[in-house]
Amino acid sequence: PTFDSMGLREDLIRGIYAYGFEKPSAIQQRAIKPVIKGRDIIGQAQSGTGKTATFSIGILQTLDTQVRETQALVLSPTRELAVQIQKVILALGDYMSVQCHACIGGTNIGEDIRKLDYGQHVVSGTPGRVFDMIRRRNLRTRSIKMLVLDEADEMLNKGFKEQIYDVYRYLPPATQVVLFSATLPHEILEMTSKFMTDPIRIIV
Ligand code: AMP
Repeated sequence: PTFDSMGLREDLIRGIYAYGFEKPSAIQQRAIKPVIKGRDIIGQAQSGTGKTATFSIGILQTLDTQVRETQALVLSPTRELAVQIQKVILALGDYMSVQCHACIGGTNIGEDIRKLDYGQHVVSGTPGRVFDMIRRRNLRTRSIKMLVLDEADEMLNKGFKEQIYDVYRYLPPATQVVLFSATLPHEILEMTSKFMTDPIRIIV
């Protein structure tokens, strides 16, 4: 299996190789296609497996960059991780003119408002600040097609459960949900049964 055989857009493949990836990791081989097909996914994967690029490639493949509205939202437990995800999306999407903003606590809210008003194809953030921006109507949710919950167990450990549900309630009803978690405790399974339809479970 190669990145070339996945039916990805040329500008994205170029970005993947330019980033230094040669062949897809195990999770990428199994999960990229279902993500692109729009399936809901429960991925049990630790960091180090290549999960970030899995959902980043899935997001970039499904974006319409002509439409400058938020089409994918990634929630993660820490500011550092949210920024790291933003960087991966921008790097893999280097040949695609993609706008990706990191929406994280502890930063100037005016800058968030300016960036979001300009239009961002992808937003990567922590649940608190993201919900804040949705509630203020600076982050518009009507064109969102995919929600990624990265390190979901860590988000729950950090007390973000309510904010994740708050964000979810603002998303269009048919939003695809892709969740990654190292562990799958009861509260995560409860969330997947509320947010997902006929999910695929992938364990690496
Ligand atoms: P992650 O599991 O997303 O934290 O990724 C772990 C590390 O693996 C990161 O440094 C990625 O850049 C790297 N990585 C992910 N996918 C690939 C790949 N297909 N080939 C080589 N390195 C990769």
